[in-house]
Amino acid sequence: MAKKGTNNGGTPTSCSFCGRGQGQVMFLIPTMDGHGAICDNCVAGAYDVIKSYMGEDADAKQKKAASDSIDLAAVPKPKEIVAFLDQYVIGQDAAKKYLSVAVYNHYKRLSQPVDDSVEIEKSNIIIVGPTGTGKTLLAKTIARMLKVPFAIVDATVLTEAGYVGEDIESLLVRLLQACDYDVAQAERGIVFIDEIDKIARKGDNPSITRDVSGEGVQQGLLKLLEGSVVNVPPNGGRKHPDQKMIPVDTKNILFICGGAFEGIERKIAQRLNTYVVGFGSDNVSRKQQRDNLINYVAPQDLRSFGLIPEIIGRLPILTNLEPLDRNALKRILTEPKNAIIKQYKKSFAMDGVDLQFDEDALDLIVDKAIEYKLGARGLRSLTETIVLDAMYECPSAGIDKFVVTRDYALSKLEKTNFDLFT
Ligand code: ADP
Repeated sequence: MAKKGTNNGGTPTSCSFCGRGQGQVMFLIPTMDGHGAICDNCVAGAYDVIKSYMGEDADAKQKKAASDSIDLAAVPKPKEIVAFLDQYVIGQDAAKKYLSVAVYNHYKRLSQPVDDSVEIEKSNIIIVGPTGTGKTLLAKTIARMLKVPFAIVDATVLTEAGYVGEDIESLLVRLLQACDYDVAQAERGIVFIDEIDKIARKGDNPSITRDVSGEGVQQGLLKLLEGSVVNVPPNGGRKHPDQKMIPVDTKNILFICGGAFEGIERKIAQRLNTYVVGFGSDNVSRKQQRDNLINYVAPQDLRSFGLIPEIIGRLPILTNLEPLDRNALKRILTEPKNAIIKQYKKSFAMDGVDLQFDEDALDLIVDKAIEYKLGARGLRSLTETIVLDAMYECPSAGIDKFVVTRDYALSKLEKTNFDLFT
């Protein structure tokens, strides 16, 4: 004989919760062991119970619970992250290493069980390096492979509340936009704050002049870095009383800050000289002058530059980018996956033209970028100037090969008076 609520084959014919039979409900979902079932009415009822238990934002909480479980085995390891960065960014090995470890640790922190007694805290990063050496490029490249929302924001627009400019909280708007305003996702994201040096305190005596874009902004930023719940105006800009705010907890948001800190070498030199004199070693002194000072950047230099100690304390990982030398510039021109020369070659190839650059033509581009102090940023405009005429002529010239020689490149630069535009 069949069991109550089942047919002869043992399949449930009524809901184990409300007892309604097969004919009274839309469908029955059997349990895993096949001995029971739940009907569509009870599923809906159960969902309502969960919703009322968890409050209004049950959906958001569920989403968060689901996304909380980052599978550490599935995320890229630091070495894989660096290998990916290597395809696009030349050199800057130290910064790549720090970044990759920081991002991996970020994943680790997100995948740690909530009730764990030892909690891995976040380590925000600060990258110091001359302009045009790849800070933004590093950030953008790493963003491509991230499994969490990522936003690049600029600190120059920030001012203290009450002044013209944007409130600190607006930094998080971009992050919210990056994940369609899914707050739970944003709270696990990464924010790259560019030009952090622009909010450094100007001058050594802050009490004499009121510094609109200085210490007040840093105090505000400190709140974000430390981890607190901040109210973000959904459309950015200035907050106003009638606006509906989105509360965002920054506890698990990783902040990566970048800045050129122009002139910081002087602070480093001052510090190192004191140190060297203290130990009376001339050799060390000479070596330090010879080597690149930026490689010796330390937290106290950031302080001399005008960052408040609390901010520096909240950016425990300090790394630097190196100035790009001749060799690095030449590699940038030709090696990255989307190197400038590769891009022009591809563009010409679409017209059936094989574009080639003589080695000394490439050297010329690099030399001019150095001569005009344009750095890596100048490589594109120099190349563009050189190939512009060819880009104009070639599509209708019926040729299948075009070689850029040093003389040709030089003549094009001279013709356009490139030096007058720089
Ligand atoms: P910044 O350090 O001022 O943020 P960017 O990252 O914006 O500099 O660099 C400007 C441009 O110069 C990049 O878009 C890229 O084309 C080139 N560039 C700079 N540094 C590198 C690098 N290390 N490797 C490859 N390209 C680079």
